[in-house]
Amino acid sequence: MTRVTDHGGGVHSIEVPIPDNPLGHTLVHLVDTGRGPVLIDTGWDDPASWDTLVAGLSALGTAVSDVHGIVITHHHPDHHGLSGRVREASGAWIAMHEADTAIVRRTREAEPGTWLDYLTRKLAAVGAPDDHLAPLRAARAGGRLRTLPGLSAALPDREIVPGELLDLAGRRLRAVWTPGHTPGHVCLHLEERHPANLPGHGRLFSGDHLLPGISPHIGLYEDPDDTAVTDPLGDYLASLERIGRLGVAEVLPAHQHAFTDAGGRVRELLAHHEERLTGLLALLATPLTPWQLAERMEWNRPWEQIPHGSRSIAVSEAESHLRRLVKLGRAEAIPGGPPVTYIAV
Ligand SMILES: [Zn+2]
Ligand SMILES: [Zn+2]
Repeated sequence: MTRVTDHGGGVHSIEVPIPDNPLGHTLVHLVDTGRGPVLIDTGWDDPASWDTLVAGLSALGTAVSDVHGIVITHHHPDHHGLSGRVREASGAWIAMHEADTAIVRRTREAEPGTWLDYLTRKLAAVGAPDDHLAPLRAARAGGRLRTLPGLSAALPDREIVPGELLDLAGRRLRAVWTPGHTPGHVCLHLEERHPANLPGHGRLFSGDHLLPGISPHIGLYEDPDDTAVTDPLGDYLASLERIGRLGVAEVLPAHQHAFTDAGGRVRELLAHHEERLTGLLALLATPLTPWQLAERMEWNRPWEQIPHGSRSIAVSEAESHLRRLVKLGRAEAIPGGPPVTYIAV
């Protein structure tokens, strides 16, 4: 049974399943415009997800072939996975922020082993032990390269320009750049009166940036060609404040469910990160590599039970917190290494 929700004012959502993922589904939003429906995100590229999307559109009295445009909040496969297929079936344009489009392009063009080499080198530099690196080296040597989602992701044909209205007939949908979860993440602000007259300024399609019960993963931007030291957590916190200031009446996120009180949720997340940074400073009373810090941080399960791939993601989250602490002047790297070690100052 395909689940669709009427959010009022010509806005609906379809629950498109993500296979084998605790998140369950992506909420694909559909905004009616004078030239046909526009989708915000499309869902995971999987036959069952595609069927659900198609069934959802037909339950809403439209069809994939009617889709006029696709607006993508960020390049992750649970958001952008089906975009190419929808474009093929409809001729719709696909719009994305240029920073995430660059990632799509880079991933499509990468040599099969490049990503694995980059990951292995990087993990070694932050103190990953040999037993973590061994499977990566074995996969490289044996040519058993995991197929990464995104290798065939669709190249967008339009750019989402921060601060500008999208070109949609009869609607006011403004792009708000919210880097952090990815460098080109955007939220979309529907600058129209709330259909149920809830107080506040319109509605916000928040992607993965602002969710009612999940704190999104903030890691590193992971660009093998870019040596600039970015600060994704700093970007994310600034993006949260930007969203908080909009004073929207309702948030329509890409997972879980719609909610009100965006300002309260923003404050909760800011407090959560402040608390986490303070906790990390206590751990950094003794010098630690990013890997050692990740081992000591609090996760949703004990470190021993975290699978291999998720440990690599966890250590990038530890690194994004270290970069923030360094930027704030609350921690510093100790000369020497690799692996690099950090200490609170
Ligand atoms: Zn995401
Ligand atoms: Zn997501």
